[in-house]
Amino acid sequence: MTDHIAPSSGTGPAGAFTRAERLVVKIGSALLVDQASGELRQDWLRALIEDVAAIRRTGRQVTLVSSGAVALGRRALGLGAGPLRLEESQAAAAAGQVRLAHAYQAALQAHGLTVAQILLTLEDTQQRRRYLNARNTFNTLLNLGAVPVVNENDTVATNEIRYGDNDRLAARVAQMISADCMVLLSDVDGLYTADPGVSADARHIPAVSDISPAIEAMAGGVGSDVGSGGMRTKLMAAKIATAAGCEMWIADGRGLHPLRALDTGARHTRFAAQGNPATARKQWIAGALEPAGRLLVDAGAVRALMQGRSLLPAGVKAVEGRFNRGDAVIVAGPDGIEIGRGLSAYSDADARRISGYKSREIEGLLGYRGRDEMIHRDDLVLHAVGDHARAG
Ligand code: GLU
Repeated sequence: MTDHIAPSSGTGPAGAFTRAERLVVKIGSALLVDQASGELRQDWLRALIEDVAAIRRTGRQVTLVSSGAVALGRRALGLGAGPLRLEESQAAAAAGQVRLAHAYQAALQAHGLTVAQILLTLEDTQQRRRYLNARNTFNTLLNLGAVPVVNENDTVATNEIRYGDNDRLAARVAQMISADCMVLLSDVDGLYTADPGVSADARHIPAVSDISPAIEAMAGGVGSDVGSGGMRTKLMAAKIATAAGCEMWIADGRGLHPLRALDTGARHTRFAAQGNPATARKQWIAGALEPAGRLLVDAGAVRALMQGRSLLPAGVKAVEGRFNRGDAVIVAGPDGIEIGRGLSAYSDADARRISGYKSREIEGLLGYRGRDEMIHRDDLVLHAVGDHARAG
């Protein structure tokens, strides 16, 4: 049991959390909405957003994944206590989401920050085109300084095609935007060796380096019954996030200023990232995707790629295969030997139209202003020089 639990990082100021350039914070319903009255906890939200503003002032980017739509909406619609039918919770989500967004807007605006709402479905995180669209929108918003507030699009997501819990949704968002740290604010301060509510000798686990079966067994019956995510979904989220190179923290968010508290050493469980987001993404591109086509590039383009630049349409001599925007393609040099793989920013038809042309000519050729690059360098993996064997 000891080998997969990293040594305690102590209670000093939280290293990676403080350093994270791109942070995702998941906020559970039970924190945001008072269980008894069904009302928004305004003081708590104000304090949380003060913490977010402090992080933004240091130039770091924050994305919030917030639950609470169903909890707020059920009160607004006069739905009583007890379990809701699917169509009732979808209706509640519709009524609650607008209130939730408004609350975030008011709280963030007080600090001069712009909120941007993104509602996602499971398919948006699974289908590559939609995934890439969402990813581009996130990147644009974050680079413009906005604070995205994300929730599942509960109103249109039916049971079979929904996450149902925002823990995993937050992990997918972290993966999508290559976040380096994600914090699940919950009503427990982390993972325990057993259910602390049941077992007096349950020990808190400060850090997990590998989510082994023993760790999963610990999550068995543990977890709160508010919201949809118990400890199980938190571990599933941890697997998604850490495999994407993002470390994940579980922390108690109930007090005011929960992020500030973490910064000054509040107790939490920290799941170590496997590698970093850029490497994880490149591994995914290099390994997991079946190439759907091939771009033959000229010698000048090969040199530019080797220097770490993006592939521009001007350097592409021929386009083979049928593919959509966002599909993986092989990049081959003038000799036809594969030099790498990447995600094409254009479909094969559009790629044929613009290959050999300058990026500023794209709009004239296609009638829309697409990306300047055929494959952006972040979406490109080159094989090591001399590693041409795998080109086959
Ligand atoms: N999307 C749901 C809501 O906003 C919450 C899901 C969850 O509890 O994680 O109410």
